[in-house]
Amino acid sequence: MTIVLRDLADLRALVRGWKAAGQSVGVVPTMGALHDGHLSLVRAARAGCDRVIVTIFVNPKQFNNPADLQKYPRTEAADTALLQSVGTDAIFAPHPDQVYPPGFATTVSVSGISAPMEGAHRPGHFDGVATVVAKLFGMTMAERAYFGQKDWQQLQVVQRLVADLNLPVEVIGCETLRESDGLAMSSRNARLSPSARLQAAVLYRAMVTAANDIRNAIPVATALETAHRAVLAGGFDAVDYIDLRSADLLEPMPHPDRPARLLAAATIDGVRLIDNIAV
Ligand code: AMP
Repeated sequence: MTIVLRDLADLRALVRGWKAAGQSVGVVPTMGALHDGHLSLVRAARAGCDRVIVTIFVNPKQFNNPADLQKYPRTEAADTALLQSVGTDAIFAPHPDQVYPPGFATTVSVSGISAPMEGAHRPGHFDGVATVVAKLFGMTMAERAYFGQKDWQQLQVVQRLVADLNLPVEVIGCETLRESDGLAMSSRNARLSPSARLQAAVLYRAMVTAANDIRNAIPVATALETAHRAVLAGGFDAVDYIDLRSADLLEPMPHPDRPARLLAAATIDGVRLIDNIAV
C-alpha cells in the first residue's frame, strides 16, 4: 500500500516509526510526470532500503522561466498508480506553502560547479535545486537518496552540497533510461509534437558520434562543432551547449586527458531537452 502525504508532520511521524523499528529509508526526489526513468530510481531504492519515499514537488524556485513552470506536466493520479506498482511506501506531495511558508528566507548556493552550462542558461536554477534538495533531505530524514545521471550537473551539485554541509545521506547516481531510439526519457518529452518527438533522437545520435570521434583522436572542438551542426540540421531550433567537461568538477576539457562527460542542451518544438554521456 502506498500512502500519500501532504503534511510534513505526518511524514515525520511515519519516518520516525520506521526508524524506531530499525528500518532504513531511501528517498527519490521528483517533480512528478513520472516515466520509466523515475521508476528505475524507485527500483534501486527498493533494492537498497527497507522503506522508500518518493517526493513529488514541482519546485517553483528552480524554474527561471515562469512559462516553463506553468507548462510543466502534472499527472499525480497516474504517478500514484505507477509508484504503487513498483512498491513505493510513501509519496510526499506537499503544497508549495508547506515547503516555502511565509517568511522563508534561506537559499542554499553551491558555487563553482553550479556556474557553467545549466547554471549559465538558467540563472538561479541550481540555487533552487540545492535549496529544495537540502530541505527534502531534512524533511524525509532519509539515509539514502537516488538521483538520475540524466541530470549530470545536478547530481554533481547535490554531491557537493551533501559533502560540504555534512548531510547524513548517501547520494546514489543511477543510469539514464532511454527510449528505443536513444532519446533520454524526460517528463518534457510529452510536450513534443509527434514529428518533433521523432526528430529529437538526433541529439543523442550526434552525441554518440561526437564521443566516438573524440575517442578516435579527432580534435574535441571539431567533434563538438560537427555535433552542433548535426543537431540543428536534424530539426532542433537552438543549441544552448554541446560541451566536453571533466566528469566530476565539470571543468572545460579541450583535450580528453581524464574521464569526461559530453553534455548537451538544445530546444526543439519549444521544448528544451538535456542529455549527457560518458566519454
Ligand atoms: P525530475 O522529475 O525530472 O526532476 O527528475 C527526478 C529524478 O529522476 C532526477 O534525479 C532525474 O535525474 C531522474 N531522471 C529523470 N529522467 C531520467 C532518466 N531518463 N533516467 C534516469 N533517471 C532520470
